[in-house]
Amino acid sequence: MSLLSVKNLEVKFATAEGEITAVDNISFDVNPGEVLGLVGESGSGKSVTARSLMKLNADNTRYGEGSSMTLSADGETINILGLRTPRQLRKVRGDLVSMIFQEPMASFAPAISIGSQMVEQLMLHRKMTRSEARELSIDLLDKVGISDAPKRFKQYAFELSGGMRQRAMIAMALSTRPRLLIADEPTTALDVTIQAQVLDLMKDIVAEYDMGVIFITHDLGVIAQTADRVAVMYLGKIVESGPVRDVIHNPAHPYTQGLLNALPKLEDLDAPLTPVPGDIPSPLERPNGCVFHTRCQKAIEGKCSAMEPPQVTIRDGHVSSCFLNDPQNNDPQNGDLA
Ligand code: SF4
Repeated sequence: MSLLSVKNLEVKFATAEGEITAVDNISFDVNPGEVLGLVGESGSGKSVTARSLMKLNADNTRYGEGSSMTLSADGETINILGLRTPRQLRKVRGDLVSMIFQEPMASFAPAISIGSQMVEQLMLHRKMTRSEARELSIDLLDKVGISDAPKRFKQYAFELSGGMRQRAMIAMALSTRPRLLIADEPTTALDVTIQAQVLDLMKDIVAEYDMGVIFITHDLGVIAQTADRVAVMYLGKIVESGPVRDVIHNPAHPYTQGLLNALPKLEDLDAPLTPVPGDIPSPLERPNGCVFHTRCQKAIEGKCSAMEPPQVTIRDGHVSSCFLNDPQNNDPQNGDLA
């Protein structure tokens, strides 16, 4: 049984301009010890998906009737959408699930020392005594590569450098030994060398604790280094998913191909960068048919704007939703996927 199973998740927000669909009928699983990368541009629904797993979306959120999210750990299966009271919600907010945010200042209270926040969390979620929690917190700060951990333990978030704060947040997120770790753009704000250190560190700790991880980023390069499987999101839909190497070496969906073409190529520094043309549409102006058709250079006239493409299996575990991947499609572009 999967650690996390998300089926037909649909998330809508009621706004003054009308109801908007942020996540549109997506399904995925995460197993223990597995890193699933969620990748896509801003507005693709990655973070809304992640926040749904902890029921952190705002009060104007409505989940579709057929949506289901279950977390199975320690012999029990939790229906996440059924959690209501603060006590019930604690299961997915600190006990079994932890989240690392892009901006660590958002996770630390500014007027409470890093150590006090870690200790309080451990006393609440792991029922430790204060001295046990202190010992473990210092140990974890040391493990994530923070030098002079006993000193940092007493400091406030603003006294640490950006890289150190990020590492302290990772230590805090991992301290409760969550079964599922959600990392939302955890390294985007860091410079490249610190980013590499933090990614290595996360990989080591995740393997040691056998956690499942959802790693959210807009950067397919980071996903290639970090994830076992990847799901590419566009305007609330998963348009392609599969084992990370297969998706990166043999991208089937034009959007994935576009994201890969937009990455700088170290072997040819003179090659021009080719971003995906246009911008992701506003969710208030969701296109009919294939949601990507307004930006797709391979769109089939009269078809892609009218009908939703089916999900097609490319090979084991690798699926893509595009008419060009469908053997039933008799358009002359079929098969021209490069
Ligand atoms: Fe492009 Fe059509 Fe495929 Fe959508 S279904 S990605 S518009 S070719």
